[in-house]
Amino acid sequence: MLQQTVVATVKPYYAKFLAAYPTVQELATASVEDVCALWAGLGYYARARNLHKCAVAVAELGGFPNRIEVLRTLPGIGPYTANAVGAIAFGQKVLPVDGNVERVAARLFAITAPLPGAKKTIAAAAARLMEDEDAQAAPGDFAQAMFDLGATVCVPKSPNCFICPWSTHCQAKATGLATTLPVKAKKAERPRRVGSVYVLLDRQDNVLLLRRPPRGLLGGMLVLPEVPPVKARWRHAGAVEHVFTHFALTLWVHAARVDVMPEEALRAPVGSAALPSVMRKALDAGCRALNHADNGKRSP
Ligand code: SF4
Repeated sequence: MLQQTVVATVKPYYAKFLAAYPTVQELATASVEDVCALWAGLGYYARARNLHKCAVAVAELGGFPNRIEVLRTLPGIGPYTANAVGAIAFGQKVLPVDGNVERVAARLFAITAPLPGAKKTIAAAAARLMEDEDAQAAPGDFAQAMFDLGATVCVPKSPNCFICPWSTHCQAKATGLATTLPVKAKKAERPRRVGSVYVLLDRQDNVLLLRRPPRGLLGGMLVLPEVPPVKARWRHAGAVEHVFTHFALTLWVHAARVDVMPEEALRAPVGSAALPSVMRKALDAGCRALNHADNGKRSP
């Protein structure tokens, strides 16, 4: 959950998730739809699907593997997570390289090649830190000390070199490059996409929903339909904006109320539907437009 998402946002999700699935076996036997519902609003839904797949794999193995090569074969586990689990849970002599460690290593060794191209060079330099005897004696503590050093001392804009335990060995400090490292290649501007969604409510404030296919954007999540699901008097409810990793989205919202939902339709109460944030924004916009129209009708 903490990959790509800050602690304050994660906290309530984490508590609910652990209450629902206190063991890896319970997570493995849950349905992926239920897992995605608990993740709704947290974003990056591939994480939820992979976590579920990973739990199934771990349950089949009969427990967590402790070797890095085996950890790497589990769904959703890349080099960083494999090393983090290996070092922290099993004391393997490896260093997980997150953004913080990457910054510290780029500075310690004054690596001026730009990211993301320099990722491997920086990771290789960071791995050299593990050659230290003390690091090898407690790899989990060393990894967490590196995370903390990057998060609190060797911070991105103004590193606190004067209190840094490595200031005498740091090449970036010696050469006055600390604030300029790591160099980042300019990112291409995010493209913008435009789409539409349809908010269909019944008189009991249930909303019609669809489930996305398991792969791809918002895979496995409940969403609003992108085409009108029935003939109705569709009102324009404005547009909502959302930023995904690779593009920005403008979603035009249309809303209508019907007396009876189509029989086969998947539906959920407006207040408790487990939706991704972008769909929640669109649903709220649709509900506002319908309430406005309903109040207008009632006024004298
Ligand atoms: S001396 Fe400064 S730049 Fe070098 S690792 Fe420490 S805080 Fe970072």
